[in-house]
Amino acid sequence: MHLSRYPRLHFAHLPTPLEPMTRLSEHLGGPNLWIKRDDCTGLSSGGNKTRKLEFLMADAVEKKADTIITQGATQSNHARQTTAIAAKLGMPCHVLLEDRTGYEDPAYVYNGNVLLDQLHGSTISKRPADTDMNAAMEELAQQLRDDGSNPYIIPGGGSNEIGALGYVNAAVELTTQANDQSLRIDHLVHATGSSGTQAGLVLGMEATNSGIPVYGVGVRAPRQKQEEMVFGLAQRTAEFMGLNPDIVKRERVVANSDYVGDGYGLPTNAMVEAVKMMAQYEGILLDPVYSGKGFSGLIDLIRKGHFRKGENVVFLHTGGSISLFGYPDVFDLPGYI
Ligand SMILES: *Cc1c(COP(=O)(O)O)cnc(C)c1O
Repeated sequence: MHLSRYPRLHFAHLPTPLEPMTRLSEHLGGPNLWIKRDDCTGLSSGGNKTRKLEFLMADAVEKKADTIITQGATQSNHARQTTAIAAKLGMPCHVLLEDRTGYEDPAYVYNGNVLLDQLHGSTISKRPADTDMNAAMEELAQQLRDDGSNPYIIPGGGSNEIGALGYVNAAVELTTQANDQSLRIDHLVHATGSSGTQAGLVLGMEATNSGIPVYGVGVRAPRQKQEEMVFGLAQRTAEFMGLNPDIVKRERVVANSDYVGDGYGLPTNAMVEAVKMMAQYEGILLDPVYSGKGFSGLIDLIRKGHFRKGENVVFLHTGGSISLFGYPDVFDLPGYI
């Protein structure tokens, strides 16, 4: 497996640190907890989309694109990272934001990622929930083509065969770090949404025969649908890389969607507890939509005895803390005393 065969730009801060979470491990009293800091990839406050964008933007440049189009939810971290790299490459970027939550709080609609999208110079426009976002992007692309430009469409979350290469590479990176530290990783846990992160990780772990099981915690789709999305993309990415898609076994794709709560982007009590716990035991910021729910799943699994004492569990921090500023009221903070 030789990822240098694929066009790639280098702007992520890599490798991201792999750190022990000593105080949190002690507090929860379960396995040894580690954290892989993909919140520290460096692009406009970081996050997992940066790894995917290294391959996607290289493809855009190779195809001589002059404009970027992408989509996401209102507080999309993917959109924010895309707007930042588009700015660096001097390309106009148009972001279509789907109103999945119906929130009208000005903090949600204008602060956090939405503020940064605009600060990076992108245009944003809103679409109602359940819009066919791929069709909406294609429609905009056609208008731009009619005006003589050459737009490049990045799918939601950067999740296609090209974007997933970023997480195939992350699987190799993490395995190498673990080897260098003589750390036996028993489980890798992370939040899964548009599925490119998990698809790349599962494929990377299989292709390198590392044997590290990947456990996704869903933030939107029910289990069956989420697992099928991840499995399908992992197989397509394998094919794209010239590997036999059968190296990805269906049973290696696990996405537990028990922690979604009322829906995508809607807070849960367990998420609030998880975000506070990480902030107060490790000084690390999670986010309300992805990593907070992902970590709430990990906390619950620890409490249910899913992991053995002495096992090493790595939580992949996929970023997103900027969206905390879109949810200022959900944390019930004490204020000045
Ligand atoms: C997009 C995102 C995820 C999910 O990654 P996918 O590749 O879309 O499954 C997890 N955490 C954060 C913070 C994200 O922005």
